Amino acid sequence: MSITVPALATPSAGAAFARTTVERRELGEHDVLLDIAYAGICHSDIHQARGEWGASIFPMVPGHEIAGVVRAVGDGVTKHAVGDRVGVGCFIDSCRECPNCLAGEEQFCERGNVATYNDRYADGAPTYGGYSTQIVVDENYVLGIPEGISLDVAAPLLCAGITTYSPLKHWGAGPGVKVAVVGMGGLGHLAVKIAHALGAEVTVLSHTLSKKEDGLRFGADHYETGDRDTLRRLRGSFDLIINTVSADLPVDAYLRTLALDGTMVFVGAPENKQQFAAFSLIGGRRSLAGSNIGGIRETQEMLDFCAKHGIGAEIETITADDVDKAYDRVVASDVRYRFVIDTATIPA
Ligand SMILES: [Zn+2]
Ligand SMILES: [Zn+2]
Repeated sequence: MSITVPALATPSAGAAFARTTVERRELGEHDVLLDIAYAGICHSDIHQARGEWGASIFPMVPGHEIAGVVRAVGDGVTKHAVGDRVGVGCFIDSCRECPNCLAGEEQFCERGNVATYNDRYADGAPTYGGYSTQIVVDENYVLGIPEGISLDVAAPLLCAGITTYSPLKHWGAGPGVKVAVVGMGGLGHLAVKIAHALGAEVTVLSHTLSKKEDGLRFGADHYETGDRDTLRRLRGSFDLIINTVSADLPVDAYLRTLALDGTMVFVGAPENKQQFAAFSLIGGRRSLAGSNIGGIRETQEMLDFCAKHGIGAEIETITADDVDKAYDRVVASDVRYRFVIDTATIPA
């Protein structure tokens, strides 16, 4: 029998959130039922809840930064046990057969993975995310949250953490590597913490210097604005730029801050097309790249790394009543640095 659980849903694009219930499927042989403790608010929740990416499924229960505790497991489950602290990120299934799935890069599943919300299971039923009190997920798509990170600051790691960890690892951030992080929001502040813990020399390039103290506290070695004079002064400086902002950027000016063989990676997704001159790449054998979250194996590696280095997100915990207001504040960049919903406030 399926179970009915409290959730927070928006009935149509941009409408206010309201308390409701959703059905979670009966526990299958390889399923884990978890009690959700906290759900982070990701900027992509807002885009989808407001219908800004098109083709949204309503009513929608967003949330793909989920942290909680295992309540029950199916008979065949071996990876998680009742009472374990666990997390769920951006997807809850994939084909498991394509080369990318077999390589542990399920985020790039050739048949498209099943997103945690605003998507459909194979049988056509909609998926509902973490703004809820319980969720049922196949054990292979459930992550272990190590002791040493509390669940509230762990939740945002499931999207924002892996989104920044994966490109930092892929492009070799470490001792002797100069990393620039563009933007100091939900993604950027974790990029700073993780890049610092990896041993890289970290520079933040932010809109203003208003978060400089925080940035230095999170491990940045330098904190600059992204104005043209600064970018000119920093020409040839960086081995890797992680661009976390979704605003339009003078891409050429940023590319020229890369040293020989440097790479600029987009993890933020600007609405508008971005332009650059080929010469900005040619002039230093530079690369322009993108990256999207990470696979299950790497997400677990990221959680273990963060636990070892004492890294969690900087959060503002809110109740179910505050979500609409929180969305407006995220859009206004008025959050330090991630909102997390205390799901105990969701039941009516
Ligand atoms: Zn996200
Ligand atoms: Zn696949």
